[in-house]
Amino acid sequence: MAFNNRTKINLLLESAKTDDQVTLMGWVRTKRSNKNVAFIALNDGSCIQNFQVVADPQNIPEEILKKVNTGACLKVNGKIVPSQGSGQSSELLADEIIVLGEADPEKFPIQPKRHTMEFLRENAHLRIRTNTFSAIFRVRHNLAFAVHQFFHNKGFFYIHSPIITASDAEGAGEMFRVTTLDPKNPPLTPEGKVDYSQDFFERETNLTVSGQLEGELAALALSDIYTFGPTFRAENSNTTRHLAEFWMIEPEMAFYDAEDNQNLAEEFLKYIISFALTNCGNDLEFLANRASEEEKTKKADQRSDMTLIEKLNFVVENKFIRITYTEALDILRQSTPNKKKKFTYPIEDWGMDLQSEHERYLVEKHFNKPVIITDYPKAIKSFYMKQNDDGKTVAAMDILFPGIGEIVGGSQREERLDKLEERMEELQISREEMWWYLDTRRFGTTPHSGFGLGFERMVQFVTGMANIRDVIPFPRTPGNAEF
Ligand code: ATP
Ligand code: MN
Repeated sequence: MAFNNRTKINLLLESAKTDDQVTLMGWVRTKRSNKNVAFIALNDGSCIQNFQVVADPQNIPEEILKKVNTGACLKVNGKIVPSQGSGQSSELLADEIIVLGEADPEKFPIQPKRHTMEFLRENAHLRIRTNTFSAIFRVRHNLAFAVHQFFHNKGFFYIHSPIITASDAEGAGEMFRVTTLDPKNPPLTPEGKVDYSQDFFERETNLTVSGQLEGELAALALSDIYTFGPTFRAENSNTTRHLAEFWMIEPEMAFYDAEDNQNLAEEFLKYIISFALTNCGNDLEFLANRASEEEKTKKADQRSDMTLIEKLNFVVENKFIRITYTEALDILRQSTPNKKKKFTYPIEDWGMDLQSEHERYLVEKHFNKPVIITDYPKAIKSFYMKQNDDGKTVAAMDILFPGIGEIVGGSQREERLDKLEERMEELQISREEMWWYLDTRRFGTTPHSGFGLGFERMVQFVTGMANIRDVIPFPRTPGNAEF
């Protein structure tokens, strides 16, 4: 006989009728009891709400009830009855409780009280059982689903770009090496260097930092594609916005110029946020309350005057600001924090890279809206970006979000072979190794564009979580790969 004949709590909450006979399975969040009755809050992860189980010690043996502790896993058979208490309209009157898995209340780390985020990260294997983390991961799922739905509806194809790559031309950050050579005794070349020609792939290989280059190959065949996969950066940046392993969504479109690219990115970001607003109402409400509590601990001038839900609606309803790097630099130069020397990096000459303090000033203080910055100096951007006619800038775009900073980086790509080769030469990027990439410009090239959205930064924005480590189930950061 099959085991899984239970009803999920999210469905039960929609359809429970008095006298229905149902089976629930889930984990105990709390138990309150006296000698006449026990109230058990059961959660099965299907939604933020618990379902209240009522156990009458006359029906349920005491030795069973003793095992019903926070964290234990139960199967409950019973009957739906109208609830006497407030907080729910109906509850489950238990005929039978089977303890599927006990949890020693002395040892189970996740007790029904407020834990710090640090403590929960150290218990990442169990933190998913909290309201906060289960809500985050349900929202994360919905955002991922929305990504696929958005692109599928627009006729984009999902391309699986490789995770192991030999190209390190992207220059997006330090890479993790992939090798099967013996670290104690690797084969050496006559010059005394590690001889990777004897390695598994007969060359040096790394974990990918981006699927873009392969994405471009596919776009120049299928027109509109996107990738959505893990990317890796061995940068030693311990910030609240960086992971060593994160997920990136990278659409790439033939026949798109820089403006088409900006339009698509704006429509895409708004779509997935509204999808979450429509489909994750209860979880977002819970997370919004959590975020409001968090706001109260901040200094008055750092506090946001919008709730999380208001912020999300605001982004969906308002047009993003679009300015060039040059305009952004002028605004920053004239800004009060720059004049009062409040920036750690003062605004200097045209050509300087924008630091996150500058980006945050623009989105959070000056515009208070998402901002698309375009046309950056070519020296601070990648080799593949389309060179503008001014000879100084490239058709790049970064999208900055309040509270997050950079969420998207993208560009129109340089489709002219001579211009691309010239730039590679200047940057000493090997044209021989990149022969396959350059072939797209040799055979049937066309204007094309794309961008990369850091998925976790989007999940952060939608859930209001301050630290990127709290929006991926098992974060990988310097020193952390336990779970
Ligand atoms: P940053 O300046 O914030 O380090 P980047 O310029 O290195 O970002 P890109 O190489 O353009 O970023 O990558 C595209 C997107 O991937 C970024 O806009 C961001 O959303 C996300 N991203 C980049 N690095 C990380 C990281 N280490 N962890 C999580 N997301 C990241
Ligand atoms: Mn970076």
